[in-house]
Amino acid sequence: MKIESKVIHAGIEPDPSTGAIMTPIFQTSTYVQSSPGDHKGFEYARTGNPTRKALETNLAALENGKYGVCFSSGMAAMDAILQLLDPGDEVIATNDLYGGSYRLITKVHARYGLNAKFIDMSKPTAVARKISKNTKMVWIETPTNPMLNIVNIAAIAKSAKRKGAIVVVDNTFASPYLQNPLDLGADIVLHSATKYLGGHSDVILGAVVTKKKELAEQLFFTQNAVGAVPGPQDCFLVLRGIKTLHVRVDRACKNAKKVAKYLDRHPKVGRVYYPGFKSHPGHEIAKKQMRDFGGMLSFDLVDDKLDAAHKVMSSTKMFALAESLGGVESLIGHPASMTHGSIPKKERLKVGITDSLIRLSVGIEHVDDLIADLETALTEI
Ligand SMILES: *Cc1c(COP(=O)(O)O)cnc(C)c1O
Repeated sequence: MKIESKVIHAGIEPDPSTGAIMTPIFQTSTYVQSSPGDHKGFEYARTGNPTRKALETNLAALENGKYGVCFSSGMAAMDAILQLLDPGDEVIATNDLYGGSYRLITKVHARYGLNAKFIDMSKPTAVARKISKNTKMVWIETPTNPMLNIVNIAAIAKSAKRKGAIVVVDNTFASPYLQNPLDLGADIVLHSATKYLGGHSDVILGAVVTKKKELAEQLFFTQNAVGAVPGPQDCFLVLRGIKTLHVRVDRACKNAKKVAKYLDRHPKVGRVYYPGFKSHPGHEIAKKQMRDFGGMLSFDLVDDKLDAAHKVMSSTKMFALAESLGGVESLIGHPASMTHGSIPKKERLKVGITDSLIRLSVGIEHVDDLIADLETALTEI
């Protein structure tokens, strides 16, 4: 089945008791047993819920995996993945990681003995040199947030595997429609389904997909033991959102391409970070490992001042100033003070997150309206 059909059909069966075409929201905490242990596969709703199960099956299919495991947020999903590690283990991660992921590693798991290295992953050979016998996990994000760097998943997975490290890819930015890391050699894929999968800015949810039974068993154990599970209504919203994933992401990609070209020509705009440009250092790899270049881009201003960036962001009307991404509506954000606020200034400047850097999540409105909105805002500075 092609992904355009999987989004609608994979794991989705009409409800056996009514024929309802939409997966019901099983709003229940427990399930009646006819005699102890005699049940229909569900005992208690932290452990399992049919709405959640449908979503987990669907997500596993979208990523060409075998097992989907859903959590109450992307961060809860990441926490469950990091719990595969033991004190003293080392994780190597991209140095322009999502701010919340950086915080979870350095402020939570580091306290329990996890060692972390944050490195530039643009050159796979440099990554290979950093992987030692203590490295138990390599954490990749691509395209990265907010710099839109591209990491070569296949090349890094190959060298990590040789050393026995688990390769995880946070695939939130690309979505399963644009990129399937398991096909490129990754062991685990993470999604903040809050973003493109949900797609309508109305739910927080996280998901993990793998092909490997032993990893899945540990993840299901943590899901049940720790209990950071999503409610059935949230699972329903994500299932519903996924049905239009391909249509929404296609339009977002088209719009982003036009917006990137417009910004690139604007005299007040400094650099535009967009992997669809031939001049982007990761363009060739992106072309190989992604179906299209995504709906995200960042740019900074010739006048690299915080005030100027703030003026632009408070002047746009269609681009709403908000955290998050991947919804139908376009969003504008300021990494230095918003998503990456918890990263020290020195660290963020090293990776290019300047004071005036602005990140756009391009939505699916008419692109002419989006460009007109940016044009008006840029005349304010
Ligand atoms: C939002 C996001 C997360 C965290 O997901 P939540 O659902 O907000 O917990 C992780 N990684 C990336 C790349 C994200 O954009």
